[in-house]
Amino acid sequence: MSLGINWVTTWVAKTVDVVSTNRLRLVDLDREIGDGDHGENLDRGFTAVATKFASLPDDSTPGAALKLVATTLISTVGGASGPLLGTAYLKGAQAVGDATELDSDAVVAFLTAARDGVVLRGKAEVGDKTMIDAWTPAVDAATAAAADGKSPVEVLRAAADAAAQGAVATEPLVAHKGRASYLGDRAIGHRDPGAESSSLILAAAADAADE
Ligand code: ADP
Ligand code: MG
Ligand code: MG
Repeated sequence: MSLGINWVTTWVAKTVDVVSTNRLRLVDLDREIGDGDHGENLDRGFTAVATKFASLPDDSTPGAALKLVATTLISTVGGASGPLLGTAYLKGAQAVGDATELDSDAVVAFLTAARDGVVLRGKAEVGDKTMIDAWTPAVDAATAAAADGKSPVEVLRAAADAAAQGAVATEPLVAHKGRASYLGDRAIGHRDPGAESSSLILAAAADAADE
């Protein structure tokens, strides 16, 4: 589909599904190197987003809908991931502005602003074993795909695939941000839950665009 308001609502619906399906797996990942609530946090947040979206005005712009995702996550998700992901959607929404459709460059601008928002808020760098290890490869792959003249769907798919690889690549890392940073070497061998969930969210964005 073209990336207008229907893409955002489909993305949210698919995110609700994927987060709910992976809730226990994300809880297990967070139990290994955190406090075991990441799956619950995201499930609560995106369930609240779905409720808000049920009364989203028909003439809503993608930017307004993405901002609603942001404010809902920030107000309903306890834990580090709520404000971080919320800021991603908020900054991404600002980058989209009042456009009614996103082309490939707009997708890159959205993803870049979202990633930059997470960095602004959480100060993590690539290699710190956080969701940034999914977001930054996603932004890089999206940028390259758009420069190659790829379609918005292809740009999102490139981002999602890079994010998935980035999440796997957190396994051998020591954490330098978030709860896992208290564990030192004991975090080695475990995938970062936030990187994993971000890759699922980006895969949902690509799947939504593919319909
Ligand atoms: P909490 O750690 O407060 O219980 P969650 O379990 O919901 O929150 O989220 C944990 C995830 O948040 C981590 O796996 C990591 O990806 C991400 N995270 C934590 N701190 C930061 C940070 N400073 N920058 C980016 N991401 C972070
Ligand atoms: Mg946690
Ligand atoms: Mg917690």
